[in-house]
Amino acid sequence: MHRVLFVSPEIPPWVKSGGLGDVTAALPAALRASSVDTRVLAPGYGVALEALPGAVCVAQFDAHAAFPACRLMSAGDVNGAPLLLLDCPEYFRRPGTAYQDSAFADWPDNHLRFGLLSRVAAILGSAASPLAWRPDVVHCNDWPTALAPAYLRLAEGAHAVSVVAIHNLSHQGVFDAATLHPLGLPLSMFAIDGVEYYGKLSFLKAGIFYAQRLVTVSPTYAREIQTEEGGQGLGGLLRGRQRELIGILNGIDTKVWNPAMDRRIAHTYDFSTIARKSVNKLALQRRFGLELGEERMLLGVVSRLAHQKGIDWVVGLGGALGNLPVQLAVLGSGEKELEEDLTALAQMHRGRIGVVIGFDEVLAHLIEAGCDAFLMPSRFEPCGLNQMYSLRYGTPPIVRATGGLADTVVDCDRTTLAAGTANGFSFVEPSMAALLATVRRALDAWNTPTVWRTLQKRGMSLDFSWSASAQRYLSVYQAAARDSHL
Ligand code: ADP
Repeated sequence: MHRVLFVSPEIPPWVKSGGLGDVTAALPAALRASSVDTRVLAPGYGVALEALPGAVCVAQFDAHAAFPACRLMSAGDVNGAPLLLLDCPEYFRRPGTAYQDSAFADWPDNHLRFGLLSRVAAILGSAASPLAWRPDVVHCNDWPTALAPAYLRLAEGAHAVSVVAIHNLSHQGVFDAATLHPLGLPLSMFAIDGVEYYGKLSFLKAGIFYAQRLVTVSPTYAREIQTEEGGQGLGGLLRGRQRELIGILNGIDTKVWNPAMDRRIAHTYDFSTIARKSVNKLALQRRFGLELGEERMLLGVVSRLAHQKGIDWVVGLGGALGNLPVQLAVLGSGEKELEEDLTALAQMHRGRIGVVIGFDEVLAHLIEAGCDAFLMPSRFEPCGLNQMYSLRYGTPPIVRATGGLADTVVDCDRTTLAAGTANGFSFVEPSMAALLATVRRALDAWNTPTVWRTLQKRGMSLDFSWSASAQRYLSVYQAAARDSHL
């Protein structure tokens, strides 16, 4: 297994909406460190092309179906992995996010924008590729790239195998049946054994059906998405492919997220100097207008503000903290109603609750370093990164036991403490009451310094680096290649 084309709709640091951006920054680099020649293909967003003025055109593609002609640019690298940008100005040079306009409405031509990305990925993996460099594997990420396996199926001659990684099953790329023709797909593919999904066309379903192998981002999430409830309409199909589906936990960038070297925080520390963590707590309290001092346990949140993340429970918790000696610092942006609820909460509880609405990576680091415990009460969480950051920062996470949170956070009880595995707190029941009860348990532990130090030490000693995950991906690629030779 030598060459992998990693296809992503997000390119850090320019276009990043969530975890997939972090994975794009890290996994290709980790694969290269394991001697896998990995290149990244992403849309040529205006911000990225402006930041990379040295980009050179390496291939041109003619107009096809509803797609306009476009160019492929070789444009620097993502942490050492060569970057190929698909330059199609009318699709990708727009304000807004990768998927939405400035008012957070999906672009109406997303099927074409990401259909083109998928198609070009497939061309690069086929005999028709204009490049001398030909991948053995096309590694797709989420629905915006998941049509590539369908296009590969249409390719003539020898071609790459495909792997689809599901980072979040709730985004499936479902469009009207009438998009089939503009996407250049034949009517024969509009079937149960194809791209059809309840009378519509689904990018993700197509990927799940046509890819040789499927990966999702944690072992627990791999199980959850095969159930009726967790499968979000695709559970049956995923159950049918359970032999080809595996959960591989994402790693984290241990250079960027390292409290001993982090220049974005007020004071660096490691476990042997953990007392210095309190300098960060003070800085965080100042930044959020909270009362200064060590009397209260400071809880932190860095999150997309979404129902998925259980932020409505955080809002409820804020109102219910009452006489508990707890402070709350929240950084996030997303659903307007949650933004407004949180802002109102902070106004009602000045000095106790602080809220910053926005996306601010520097502040995210200070929250991880400065708070005592980190809240992540997600309804579902494919993998989650922030709980791993907080473990590394000696900030025990309080999470709902779902998906990757269940795979990384070991709830503190007598048994796990005695076994030395406890590193945080988790609850199962999806409710604000369960979250509040768990915060109370965490508060008790925080008030028992020996217990708290044990949790911090365990979390800080865990290895969440990408190298182990990269090895697992390599095994998946090898298995996909073996299948294709059968
Ligand atoms: P998801 O991908 O579902 O949003 P993850 O926990 O997997 O959740 O990844 C979220 C990533 O985005 C993390 O790197 C997190 O620190 C970052 N992040 C989310 N919201 C913000 C924000 N408001 N400011 C800074 N970073 C954020």
